[in-house]
Amino acid sequence: TTVIAGPVAPVSAVAPAPTAVQSPEARADALIARMTLEEKVGQVSQQFVLGSAAPVETRVKAAQLGSVLFVRDPVVVNRIQKMAVEETRLGIPLLFGYDVIHGFRTVFPVPLAMAATWKPGLVEQSQSVAAQEARASGIHWTFAPMLDLTRDPRWGRIVEGPGEDPYLASVLAAAQVRGFQGETIGAPGHVLAGPKHFLGYGASEGGRDYDSVNLSDTQLYNVYLPPFIAAIDAGAANVMSAYMELNDVPAVANDWLLNGLLRDELGFEGFVVSDANGVRSLIPQHFATDATDAAIRSIRAGNDMEMAMGTGAFDNLVAAVRDGRLDEAVVNRAVRRVLIAKFKMGLFENPYVDASLTESVLTAPDHRVLARQAAEQAMVLLQNKDGALPLQRGAHQRVAVIGPLADSPVDTVGPWAFADKTDETVTIFKGLKAKLEGAAQVETAPGVQIRRGTPSMFSAMRPMPARWDAAKAEAEYARALDLAQRSDLIILTVGEDYYMSGEQASRVSLSLPGEQQKLIDAVTALGKPVVMVMVNGRPLDIRRAATQVPAILEAWHPGSEGGAAVANVLYGDVNPGGKLPITWPRDAGQIPLYYAHNRTKDPATAATRYWDEASTPLYPFGYGLSYTDFKFSDIAVSQPSIAADGQLTVSVVVTNTGARAGDETAQLYIHQRAGRATRPVRELKGFQRITLAPGESRTLTFTLGEAELKYWSGAERKWVIDPGVFDVWIGGDSRADLTTTFEVR
Ligand code: BGC
Repeated sequence: TTVIAGPVAPVSAVAPAPTAVQSPEARADALIARMTLEEKVGQVSQQFVLGSAAPVETRVKAAQLGSVLFVRDPVVVNRIQKMAVEETRLGIPLLFGYDVIHGFRTVFPVPLAMAATWKPGLVEQSQSVAAQEARASGIHWTFAPMLDLTRDPRWGRIVEGPGEDPYLASVLAAAQVRGFQGETIGAPGHVLAGPKHFLGYGASEGGRDYDSVNLSDTQLYNVYLPPFIAAIDAGAANVMSAYMELNDVPAVANDWLLNGLLRDELGFEGFVVSDANGVRSLIPQHFATDATDAAIRSIRAGNDMEMAMGTGAFDNLVAAVRDGRLDEAVVNRAVRRVLIAKFKMGLFENPYVDASLTESVLTAPDHRVLARQAAEQAMVLLQNKDGALPLQRGAHQRVAVIGPLADSPVDTVGPWAFADKTDETVTIFKGLKAKLEGAAQVETAPGVQIRRGTPSMFSAMRPMPARWDAAKAEAEYARALDLAQRSDLIILTVGEDYYMSGEQASRVSLSLPGEQQKLIDAVTALGKPVVMVMVNGRPLDIRRAATQVPAILEAWHPGSEGGAAVANVLYGDVNPGGKLPITWPRDAGQIPLYYAHNRTKDPATAATRYWDEASTPLYPFGYGLSYTDFKFSDIAVSQPSIAADGQLTVSVVVTNTGARAGDETAQLYIHQRAGRATRPVRELKGFQRITLAPGESRTLTFTLGEAELKYWSGAERKWVIDPGVFDVWIGGDSRADLTTTFEVR
């Protein structure tokens, strides 16, 4: 048999594929045996291409890099790859990484919006399309899914994640890994998935990005860890460590977290990459003395690859091994994990991408159809008084689409989308114009400009629009009011600009930024029909607006086809069925506010309360209206009690009692009445989104067993199931009141 230990001579794309007589592991070992220490350190170093690729190319030719990120042009990918494959001694191909967060050229709704679909199948399909487009552009690896649970909407990165709930997040985590990676690592048209950020980043103090995280063991295991367990069980090839420090030890050098929890406990076998410059950050974090110390402690803790903007701290690993401060075996361990991923991806056989096919994949019409469907399914109808929605085509002759987000492509696609072509984005104005073609005259005006604070961290990649001067601001405001005055229906689009959420985008307040409230006041004062559409990446304080407009549709940053989806929902071609994946507070002062909280006192006698606002949310977790009504009835358990290792089913009947077809998401919540630890008042443990015709009823069945009933006991440091009585509720949101009980013996 031929022994293939990685290419002896440079390979090329046309070289016949070697017979795979050896496992990726064996091939990695054989290759490592032939590598110099410098070449090994190169394999665990990753660098950004920002602007010119020249600095990266120099290092690639010197075998100083194993991976490159942020190149999206297939021709550039091939050019750089060729340098690695043909101009280095061992010809080891590079892994190309990219933030494929919610689409590539076709942009899907932001991840928080995708979570609002409660449709794992759709989420999987969307990420699979994103993977196809990325792979067709030469990308092998995405830094996604972002699985940071958060209960703090001040934190801008809430937009990138699955919301507040561990169960919903876990289901969506597995779906996304399957979507990105396909059946097996290396599946054609797919990319490596890299769940991030491990672990606890969503609990940054004060919602301030990158700030410290202090979490108890029980919070860590019961709340923040489950989506990562699901992603790893689904086969994720990579994990990104987080920037923040967890209980005083930075995640990127946290041995307990990476070697211990991630690998020993969860059984993760892939490679860990740092966040951008995360290793070097150990110095200003007052953890490492210098770059060498940072590199040694990070790689030892199990952080295998360094992502760096310039020369990395990992460069110092060569000297560290030579002078005896670091065992070369630690470097070998990391290199091996990276090489295994490259072998599994088939890069040694097929390092290049066929750039002649890229454009046809990026512009596949079915991708746009899926993006539109995803946006439709993600929309949450927050309020609909007096049947203000749906609108009727032909009922209004002059329609005004007013607000700063009405015709803004970048805000329609949202943060973490770099590849969209703005002229390909269907804004809300464009979508409505197309929908009402021949039925109404549709005009738009921004009215106000959303106030910006500091520039976005992505300003270089996506320049921010110029700021209006006072005269322009005054003129635009007058123009919008004039348009409103002349119209007989006003669709007000308010929310946040795309750079107000995402990384480095925390807020102290959840107010509608800029002068949007003033615009709402003025437009609603005209006494004309008004409908409000929100474009945003976090819950906002819309208490006042909710008293001014009859209907509010949460569209999020809905992606490339967002405007078409908004038009379909407003005009009733699509009945909205999205549900909030987060609790929507009334006021930022309530944060953290989440449904699965524990209780310390009897609410009948000592309710938690604020003097100046209710302590309940504006909209609860799981909430969302429809143009039809649903009724839940006949909840029943298959048996009154089960053994701790047993299972039971809970069934319920859902009926569409209204006159339109529509979607309802049946949500099952449980509560353990007593046990070794206090448990949340409610916890989501099952959900099913279904479509029902008018008058149709369906019986749904949910299974509860060990996976749903266990929790991590801090006292015993293990997963436990307590005997006792459990309440179970099923309904259309987290306030569900249809209930029964069962017992665990
Ligand atoms: C972010 C990561 C991202 C990386 C690469 C970092 O600043 O925290 O989530 O994957 O940049 O763009």
